[in-house]
Amino acid sequence: MVTENKTADVSFESLLRIFTIPEAPGSALSRIEAKLSQNLNEFLREHIVAEEKPLREIEKDFSEAAIPESPVFVSDHTQHLLDTLVSHSVHTSAPSFIGHMTSALPYFLMPLSKIMIALNQNLVKIETSKAFTPLERQVLGMLHRLIYQQDEAFYSKWMHSAKHSLGAFCSGGTIANITALWVARNNALKATDSFNGVENEGLYSAMKHYGYEGLAILVSDRGHYSLKKTANILGIGQDSLISVKTDKNSRLCIHDLEEKISQLKHKNIKPFAIIGVAGTTETGNIDPIRKIAEISQREGCHFHVDAAWGGATLMSNNHRGLLDGIELADSVTIDAHKQLYIPMGAGMVLFKNPNDMAAIEHHAEYILRKGSKDLGSHTLEGSRSGMAMLVYSSMHIISRPGYELLIDQSIDKAKYFAELINEQTDFELISEPELCLLTYRYVPALTAKALQVADNDQKKKLHRLLNGLTKYVQKRQREEGKSFVSRTQLNPHKWDKMNTIVFRVVLANPLTTKEILQSVLDEQREISNNSGSLMKEITKLTHLILK
Ligand SMILES: *Cc1c(COP(=O)(O)O)cnc(C)c1O
Repeated sequence: MVTENKTADVSFESLLRIFTIPEAPGSALSRIEAKLSQNLNEFLREHIVAEEKPLREIEKDFSEAAIPESPVFVSDHTQHLLDTLVSHSVHTSAPSFIGHMTSALPYFLMPLSKIMIALNQNLVKIETSKAFTPLERQVLGMLHRLIYQQDEAFYSKWMHSAKHSLGAFCSGGTIANITALWVARNNALKATDSFNGVENEGLYSAMKHYGYEGLAILVSDRGHYSLKKTANILGIGQDSLISVKTDKNSRLCIHDLEEKISQLKHKNIKPFAIIGVAGTTETGNIDPIRKIAEISQREGCHFHVDAAWGGATLMSNNHRGLLDGIELADSVTIDAHKQLYIPMGAGMVLFKNPNDMAAIEHHAEYILRKGSKDLGSHTLEGSRSGMAMLVYSSMHIISRPGYELLIDQSIDKAKYFAELINEQTDFELISEPELCLLTYRYVPALTAKALQVADNDQKKKLHRLLNGLTKYVQKRQREEGKSFVSRTQLNPHKWDKMNTIVFRVVLANPLTTKEILQSVLDEQREISNNSGSLMKEITKLTHLILK
């Protein structure tokens, strides 16, 4: 008989036990923990069921709004979690799950995160984090150096300086982007002899003082949606996030950027920040960073690079050239929970100039006292976990050359998959991979021929039908549960910017094999050809066009 730590009744004594006595060996939870640390992949395979249960069915397990009035045993609850939650989670670490930026994790992060949670440090202030504070500053220093490549003297001077900050660790790219543009806004509207700064007087006074009719942020039409939230929160409004056109490779069009800037200046609207995207969320393309940097400098704008996804490419000496000019950025966002293989909830923003973050410095009496090294004086978030420890550990355990291998093999695999798609007469590559992201769709060989000769009307009709097919196949494939790709809508120049629904693939999992890629295509072909009326309509129109 296994003794439970917690009796299923409510007494202070039993409550004390859950704070003091460790889990009994042999209990259900201990057995699960053992399995988790022995073979993580097997654990996930065993406990996540493949079949797709409709969300409204799952919701029934989570429909009780009343907080339980009686306690249960830990083991019973664990079993409950396995049955209702774990079993219907998404197997994001499966090698055939190639649809999103969330993928497998190295096993050592499981036991290490347990240590992190056990310590329960709060990085807002030294008083609750001690060694975690210099550790986080070091991690920020490492990423800063990866981007800006300053010398050792720079880092020994600034990394641990109480009055300065090389960046901020946060929960993800969204908060990182907000932080970067918050700093940019405050620096653009800073205090003068007769004005106390936007942080004190607010936007209305700031605009009057500086004589602007408005403020704007410029980013390509492929910019991430978090930037809209940013414009909203900063009080300039989403309409002030100005969308710059992109070329056929989804990269910001410099000519249009120049045009938009002069239009804004003509209206006396101050563009205070320009954003370059290094790894667009949908197609993984990289803006011409160096050119945007030159324009930003000339215009006196803050230059931010959103490298949430692509920033990790800097780890590879073979591919870091793709982000040429990133060292000219005033700030850079990098997500550790994407291509640095850290669990969800780890983002960073780095600032070239260690003085920049003074623009958002915040002090309070009981914590964050002036001159203290409390990280909370330069972060948007308050209480924060010791996530930086996992980045620190991964940097040591995997090391820069290890990350280089991971990045290189991902990009190689994407290039291989693009070739494989190009070899098929019935698949069409829509976006070439620049990083490990690509998009494509299924088009029957004869239909591809028909598209070449179709008139405008027929082209539109075929496109609409093919969009329906792509949507259907993506959904069926997900439901079958063998593999998963995501889907998005693009407007390829090749197809006169017609709305085109595509499969989107992210090849970040090192366990994804060439065989899996082949079988993903095979499955999509099979689902397409068994799609019944959808395929019938496509075939009918194809024959009509080719007649
Ligand atoms: C993922 C991503 C973000 C947002 O990051 P979160 O971590 O999801 O908040 C922002 N920009 C780009 C380019 C991204 O890929």
